Amino acid sequence: MTADLDVDVVVVGGGVVGCAVARELSGHHLSVALIEARGDVGDATSKANTAILHTGFDAVPGSLESRLVRRGYELLSEYAPRAGIPVEPVGALLVAWDDEQLQALPKLRAKARDNGYERTEIVDAAEVYRRVPALGPGALGGLAVPDASIICSWTSTLAYATEAVRRGARLLLRHRVTGIEVGSERTTVTTDRGVVTTRWLVNAAGMGADHLDRQLGHDRFTVVPRRGELIVFDKLARPLAPCIVLPVPSSRGKGVLVSPTVYGNVMLGPTAEDLQDREDTATSDAGLAGLLDKGRALMPALVEEDVTATYAGLRAATEHSDYVVDVDPAQRYVLLGGIRSTGLTASMALAEHVVELMTSAGEHLAVRSDLPPAPRMPNIGEAFPRPYADAELIAQDPDYGRVVCFCERVTRGELRDALASTVPPSDLDGLRRRTRALMGRCQGFYCGAEVGRILEDHVRGTP
Ligand SMILES: Cc1cc2nc3c(=O)[nH]c(=O)nc-3n(C[C@H](O)[C@H](O)[C@H](O)COP(=O)(O)OP(=O)(O)OC[C@H]3O[C@@H](n4cnc5c(N)ncnc54)[C@H](O)[C@@H]3O)c2cc1C
Repeated sequence: MTADLDVDVVVVGGGVVGCAVARELSGHHLSVALIEARGDVGDATSKANTAILHTGFDAVPGSLESRLVRRGYELLSEYAPRAGIPVEPVGALLVAWDDEQLQALPKLRAKARDNGYERTEIVDAAEVYRRVPALGPGALGGLAVPDASIICSWTSTLAYATEAVRRGARLLLRHRVTGIEVGSERTTVTTDRGVVTTRWLVNAAGMGADHLDRQLGHDRFTVVPRRGELIVFDKLARPLAPCIVLPVPSSRGKGVLVSPTVYGNVMLGPTAEDLQDREDTATSDAGLAGLLDKGRALMPALVEEDVTATYAGLRAATEHSDYVVDVDPAQRYVLLGGIRSTGLTASMALAEHVVELMTSAGEHLAVRSDLPPAPRMPNIGEAFPRPYADAELIAQDPDYGRVVCFCERVTRGELRDALASTVPPSDLDGLRRRTRALMGRCQGFYCGAEVGRILEDHVRGTP
């Protein structure tokens, strides 16, 4: 049970948004508790997305999402290399496959300008094929978005959480918020493992944000889980996708794309399907078959490659076209709702915005001058040096030369470091997100038992 914890701010939800907020607020003279129902941070929507750092070129001009995606792009682009988050500025190419889409390109370019992004370029069909030779036949032209990047969403969330904890924030995992009562001075947050009192409450509960919001007496939005299914292809497919290949966006979202990943694979997806069940992250036969059909037209050689994995994530869609973000000064309450398909990119800007909202509500927030340096996260990106290839490191510590997961070349030293880290994993999936173990071609067939044993030994306290 959590014993009588009393803080200045409770942040509910340890996804990429809540972790970014906890990191930002703990950089001020505030005591912060980050409350997460699951056993790990970044274990819900934030672990299952397409991991693109968007420029915001196609957002709705003038919307909060447009502003925060643009700002978030700047902030995360600066933070990622500093914190060791793998990021690659591969660029994107939006491809027009019919006359209507071709006619839409100048409008998209103008929209990009309205969103403050000036660097798009309309290119002809020959240039489209020069940039992405593996594209299927029929492309008529395209819009290049040179600054779109691929990033590691797992390391981003972990870096924020790690920095928040090192700054003194309390991370309460496996604490589900079940009740909220706002008093005149303090709000009582009841969880299934005890009570936390706080002056301020930030609701970053993703799929559960509307439920919490109703507990505070509001009725302003309902989350609709919009499932996105994805197929991950083997690393041998990587040369087929030199950049992110986007469709012309529709009112249903950004559409099905082909993108390289920072782990060296290629992904195809996501679908967009509204569901009832907020927990349904299973993939479906129909969804995957539809993706393969689209992929066959988009890039025929890609669907001939081996599939490494499939997965699905749920976007927190709402009846509103923008984020549902607000502050209630009387309740000392900030809502971050409806953060659907751009939350990874916007995460640091949302956190910055929370500070603005609290300040506008009369809270005096002073930045701390005694902050520890940003954490340096272990690199799990393919484009940057990894321990198995670092002779000097291996000479100092032979565990970095002992490969456990051969598909992804993950060493015993990396698994050991992850288990001893500031925000350690609680299960195999968490260990996978911190090291890449089990996510290769064999999906843990060869190394699963050994990785599982290392985790069990750690839990039991035997080296
Ligand atoms: C298929 C797909 C593709 C996407 N692609 C991109 C992309 O390329 N680029 C991009 O920027 N964004 C992308 N997104 C969007 C991005 O992933 C989300 O916007 C982001 O992960 C949302 O983060 P979050 O912290 O709000 O939510 P979550 O990660 O869902 O975190 C919310 C947390 O709150 C916890 N919680 C809920 N209720 C309670 C409670 N009562 N008590 C305690 N804890 C609670 C949950 O357990 C969860 O961990 C994509 C999303 C999907 C689904």
